[in-house]
Amino acid sequence: MAITQRSSWLTEDLDAFRELAHAFCQKELAPNQERWAAAKQIDRELWNKAGEVGLLCLSIPEEYGGGGGTFAHEAVLLEEQARAGDEAWGNAVHSGIVAHYVAGYGTEEQKRRWLPKLASGELVAAIAMTEPSTGSDLQNIKTRAIRDGDDYVINGAKTFITNGAQAGLVIVVAKTDPGEQAKGVSLIVVETEGAEGFRRGRVLDKVGMHGQDTSELFFDDVRVPVSNLLGGAEGLGFVQLMQQLPQERLLIGVTSVTAMEAAVEMTVRYTKERTAFGREIFGFQNTKFTLAECATEVAVSKAFLDQCIERHLRGELDVTGAAMVKWWTTDRLSRVADECLQLFGGYGYMSEYPISRVWTGARVGRIFGGTNEIMKEIISRTL
Ligand SMILES: Cc1cc2nc3c(=O)[nH]c(=O)nc-3n(C[C@H](O)[C@H](O)[C@H](O)COP(=O)(O)OP(=O)(O)OC[C@H]3O[C@@H](n4cnc5c(N)ncnc54)[C@H](O)[C@@H]3O)c2cc1C
Repeated sequence: MAITQRSSWLTEDLDAFRELAHAFCQKELAPNQERWAAAKQIDRELWNKAGEVGLLCLSIPEEYGGGGGTFAHEAVLLEEQARAGDEAWGNAVHSGIVAHYVAGYGTEEQKRRWLPKLASGELVAAIAMTEPSTGSDLQNIKTRAIRDGDDYVINGAKTFITNGAQAGLVIVVAKTDPGEQAKGVSLIVVETEGAEGFRRGRVLDKVGMHGQDTSELFFDDVRVPVSNLLGGAEGLGFVQLMQQLPQERLLIGVTSVTAMEAAVEMTVRYTKERTAFGREIFGFQNTKFTLAECATEVAVSKAFLDQCIERHLRGELDVTGAAMVKWWTTDRLSRVADECLQLFGGYGYMSEYPISRVWTGARVGRIFGGTNEIMKEIISRTL
């Protein structure tokens, strides 16, 4: 059963890479989901294992320890991760997001200092934007990084931070000029080991994605050298975020479409095995029509996603396009996951059935990476 066509951006090189990614995800991710969910985080060593086989920082230049690939490599790995039913490993944030802030805005010294450690798994990376009182309204963050001699002194609290429990490198979004709005925002790197005043809070209890260490982080007079500022000048943080968020949103799109396709496939299989009233569940017109609709939504979503990936590979995906693909794919995934779960009956509500994890995992897609309401706000500005 092929719901979608082969993505136009795939190549033979990427097919070969997929075999490696597939083998790793099936061996290292798939069997550990329940254990990681109970622990509320993955094994720390997974990062090192992934680094050893070259799966971290795939699209970072080789001279900094990365894979020298493109966004397409990140996308293939993410597809395989979603296919393996993984919802715990925060590599999209680590490799797909944080490493690109360092590569994009870091000085030569910063790149040489941090990127090889991110590529090997020696450091786990996180980005801390959201605060208890501010998420969508990023210009109004309260965290401060005030210059004192050759240091920044950071004070504030962050929440919902992916990789928060394991991160050794955190890009903190902070106000270097609290009197300003967007123009007062800077990105400052905190290396957490030995950082006095840095504290991790709880790993938060979530509705889904239980194996992911989404955490609170606290900064009380944390001192970092001014050389940890990304971008060479204060006040560039907001622009840097706006430039990088399209890639983050596209990554969310990749996961969403893959999860959607997997949901339809597992539901087709299940409804052909299960019987009621002396026939396959699949035989009822309602089941067939529902799955026909879902398959169509997958195909349409994937066609748009592929178009956006191609644009991104050419460096042409704009903020509006990324907002469109993010809201669309996460919204469709929520609907498809819900329809598919319904066709599993009571088993769909049991956490041991993968469809239930697709459903709970789907819900957050409409919230993180910028809520879907904010996506529509962004799109509407261009109309
Ligand atoms: C599992 C998970 C992982 C996350 N990982 C990270 C991470 O690694 N790093 C990080 O910094 N953050 C992370 N987040 C935070 C996430 O990005 C925020 O939750 C999100 O941006 C929304 O912010 P908020 O929760 O403060 O909601 P709010 O901003 O308070 O929004 C509440 C509601 O108001 C709506 N709203 C707000 N403003 C407008 C507007 N202008 N127009 C219309 N509606 C509006 C929103 O759409 C939403 O429906 C994560 C969140 C979760 C749940």
